Amino acid sequence: MNTSSDRRRIAVIGGGISGLAAAYELTRARRAGAPIEECLFEASPRLGGVIRTERQDGFILEGGPDSFLTEKPDAAELARELGLGSALVGSNDRERQTYILHRGRLVPLPDGMMLMVPTRLWPALTTPLISFTGKLAVARERFQRIQPALRRDEDETVASFVRRHFGQEILENIADPLLAGVYGGDSETLSAPATLPRFWEMEQKHGSLVKAALEARRRRRASGRGSAESHPLFTTPQGGLEQLVQRLAQELEPSKVLLGRKVAALEPAQDSGGGYLVRLEGEEPYAAEAVILALPAHEVVRLARRLEPAIEGLEAVPYSSAVTVSLAYAKKDRLPPGFGFLAPKKEGRRMLACTFVHAKFPGRAPEGRALLRCFFGGARDPAVVSLNDAELVDIACEELRAILSLRASPLFARVFRSPRAMPQYTVGHAARIRQIQERLRPERGLFLAGNAYAGIGIPDCIRSGGEAARRAVEAVCSDQRAAESGARAGG
Ligand SMILES: Cc1cc2nc3c(=O)[nH]c(=O)nc-3n(C[C@H](O)[C@H](O)[C@H](O)COP(=O)(O)OP(=O)(O)OC[C@H]3O[C@@H](n4cnc5c(N)ncnc54)[C@H](O)[C@@H]3O)c2cc1C
Repeated sequence: MNTSSDRRRIAVIGGGISGLAAAYELTRARRAGAPIEECLFEASPRLGGVIRTERQDGFILEGGPDSFLTEKPDAAELARELGLGSALVGSNDRERQTYILHRGRLVPLPDGMMLMVPTRLWPALTTPLISFTGKLAVARERFQRIQPALRRDEDETVASFVRRHFGQEILENIADPLLAGVYGGDSETLSAPATLPRFWEMEQKHGSLVKAALEARRRRRASGRGSAESHPLFTTPQGGLEQLVQRLAQELEPSKVLLGRKVAALEPAQDSGGGYLVRLEGEEPYAAEAVILALPAHEVVRLARRLEPAIEGLEAVPYSSAVTVSLAYAKKDRLPPGFGFLAPKKEGRRMLACTFVHAKFPGRAPEGRALLRCFFGGARDPAVVSLNDAELVDIACEELRAILSLRASPLFARVFRSPRAMPQYTVGHAARIRQIQERLRPERGLFLAGNAYAGIGIPDCIRSGGEAARRAVEAVCSDQRAAESGARAGG
């Protein structure tokens, strides 16, 4: 049996969903007999990072993410493993309707859009969102074999990729606002293969994205996965996403979760055994054989650039900030049905998007009441994060008055800020990250997890945390096996 002194120590820095997933995997490995000891360091007094759920007067407010895509299984699987399966609710997809603000009015996004790719031709060819020329471009895309502009390993901006397939109008009126809503990003700088890997693959395989999307839809229907009830687009715990954070936290050993501990520096351990010293303000450092950095890329650079030159490459990952303003209303009856709207840049609004939360998920607002969540910031409006709460609420109410003719005063408002929280996968991202990962050799004991690498969504973060933990366990255990067999050989 291993005593705690001969266990290999693995530190996780960052207690957002990525760090929690890593700590959970380490805990499971230890309980299954791996000779390790884990410790999680989180700067703030709470776990969850950008995941924040609050309750007020019967409303459930999300400050960061509100759900995860069911298509990527890692988050729902983890929730079920933690006993939250029966608490998961799906989005009300029967009422799914998103609007685009177009010339000051809300126009329904054509039915059957897979992001900016139509999976049903008729709605796309009859929408007032695009002109006759734009529609012609969609119809042409369906029947042309569009040659990839570049080799598979080269890169291209999202804007250029979308223009090649559908032209400028679909880019401006549909793709841009969708990407601003999801990534807080600018399509003229984002990388198509890194941001839209699925569409990039579709192009390589089929040429036409419309053709590929139509086929995917047909396959989904044939397999019975097409129904809104059995396979909702988004899922979330009934009580809000922080429920997942709380359940994860319950699985960890309380003594191994250190809150309010901002890691000030990371240094190489002085003894010949390798490893690192995790330095905290005014406390003894924590010595660890391996460290999982579950942090935004800019914080990884600050802590680890001197330890590992490859980390310097992460400086090229820019971040945008997000602000959400949640507004509760006494009545929902004057609002249009559906999940909300997106505001393209050319409409000249500060609001990027607005979710009708009461319609998207059940139980988010008391019966008959409305909860709207307005998104600001992103690459389009970095200055908005420095406005005070009153200014942000004023802007939100004023723009909702103009867009939705919503004159009622909110019952209450709540502002959440997520500064420098959204990594931007700009052109060259995938190659940069691949190079960094290749140079970070496992025996060096540094592992990366988080949203800056291969997916920004919660399922991606959970996957990256789990993978980093498994690699770290493997590295420290093989290291220990080597040391033990060396000692045996030496007599
Ligand atoms: C407004 C918003 C809406 C979103 N909506 C969705 C959505 O609906 N669905 C979806 O799938 N994704 C969504 N995302 C993306 C997703 O939520 C994030 O990518 C994910 O939660 C990031 O998790 P993380 O653990 O990698 O990082 P973070 O949550 O940023 O956690 C990093 C943690 O590290 C800590 N830390 C930083 N420095 C130190 C240090 N020196 N020492 C110790 N701790 C430190 C921080 O305090 C923080 O807790 C959204 C993001 C935002 C901001």
